Amino acid sequence: MDIDLDPELEAFRSEVAAFLDTAPTAAIREAGRKTTSVFAPFDEAMAWHKILHRKGWAAPAWPAEYGGTGWSVAQRYVFAEEYRKRDLPPLLPNSLKMVGPLLIDLGTDAQKRKYLPGILAGEDYWTQGYSEPNAGSDLASLSCSAVADGDDYIINGSKIWTTLAYRANRMFMLVRTDKAAKKQEGITFLLLDRVDYPGMTIRPIIGLDGFPEQCEVFFDNVRVPQSGRVGAENDGWSVAKHLLKHERGGSAQSPTLRRYLELVREAAFATPSPFGGVLAHDAVFQRDIGALEADIESYQHFEKLSISGHAIGRDAAFPSMNKIMSSELSQRVSVMMRRVAGLEAFSLQLDALQVGANVEPFGSQLDLMAMPYYLNSRATTIYAGTNEVQRDLVARTLVSRR
Ligand SMILES: Cc1cc2nc3c(=O)[nH]c(=O)nc-3n(C[C@H](O)[C@H](O)[C@H](O)COP(=O)(O)OP(=O)(O)OC[C@H]3O[C@@H](n4cnc5c(N)ncnc54)[C@H](O)[C@@H]3O)c2cc1C
Repeated sequence: MDIDLDPELEAFRSEVAAFLDTAPTAAIREAGRKTTSVFAPFDEAMAWHKILHRKGWAAPAWPAEYGGTGWSVAQRYVFAEEYRKRDLPPLLPNSLKMVGPLLIDLGTDAQKRKYLPGILAGEDYWTQGYSEPNAGSDLASLSCSAVADGDDYIINGSKIWTTLAYRANRMFMLVRTDKAAKKQEGITFLLLDRVDYPGMTIRPIIGLDGFPEQCEVFFDNVRVPQSGRVGAENDGWSVAKHLLKHERGGSAQSPTLRRYLELVREAAFATPSPFGGVLAHDAVFQRDIGALEADIESYQHFEKLSISGHAIGRDAAFPSMNKIMSSELSQRVSVMMRRVAGLEAFSLQLDALQVGANVEPFGSQLDLMAMPYYLNSRATTIYAGTNEVQRDLVARTLVSRR
């Protein structure tokens, strides 16, 4: 699919570019330049979400009847490319890319009316309560329990790695509602209207990169309404797996990888090589960046096929394959960033990374980003299900076809 030669698309590209050049505030642009995770700085990402919503562009992947843009696949890709070229902060994923699409697919009419507008408008932010201290890869072993009591459930137990729970106002979670059943058959999927119910405690965890991105969440007799249940009681495992498909696929990652590679390439022209001249002319560097670029290019074609509704994207193994490729490529890009930034990247400039901090960074944008991005991207092969487990899922899907 060549999306660059179509005049209508080029007109669309100009319209997108004009808006993206003028609509973001200075703080939103700064947040974009300082994003070193899939989670952009919270306040600026939510402010940008609201601006995009007013333009009608907050959820390009949603069906138009629910507030999506109605764009073609090629238009969505052009939008993603122009967006990344400007280093704008990505919108936070849990609401728009996980629970929103899940509710569109499986929510009741009442749940759609109640929750989708707040998600689309960027009024609500949802955190994901799946993992527990003893239930990560083996998620079906989860033990946080919910016991029916009148029109409510009473929840007891804990969750961990709950990203941005301390900034969220809503939560979707998995609970055990039948301890006697086979483990996958006793799980229920719940939507929580608040994260400050009496008995709920949230404790942030400081990550390797110095940011408190993940959290622990504790439940001590927390009473929540049963109306927040998605699907039937004890049928939450199929709902949970449906949401994971949206989490592991569904959005364009390659424009971000290409943008970071561009930063690496620009910096390599300004970095001395140990063999004389600049790093960009060093043969070993050229071999390595060339190999990475070729792999990103082929991933981009895979991604375009899937977003365009091609059979690849409908294949049961696709979300796992997509997750493996995008996470491993982002780690390889992060290694390349550190290699070019060299000694500069050893300093973790936490003060300069704060939006509005007015602290001059030491070195270039790449020097500022390289180390936190490298540290943060260690987790890409862990979250949303580890890559080892994804490889197992791909293998099992392929074997089941024989
Ligand atoms: C940065 C970050 C953000 C996260 N955000 C969230 C969130 O918002 N909400 C949420 O609910 N969870 C979140 N998680 C949790 C994440 O989903 C789990 O960490 C992940 O599923 C792995 O579980 P675990 O950490 O318990 O590791 P384990 O399951 O204990 O795995 C340990 C190691 O054993 C390997 N392993 C385990 N089982 C198998 C197997 N069957 N075959 C081969 N190898 C295996 C794993 O691949 C891994 O290398 C996040 C995690 C991180 C690191």
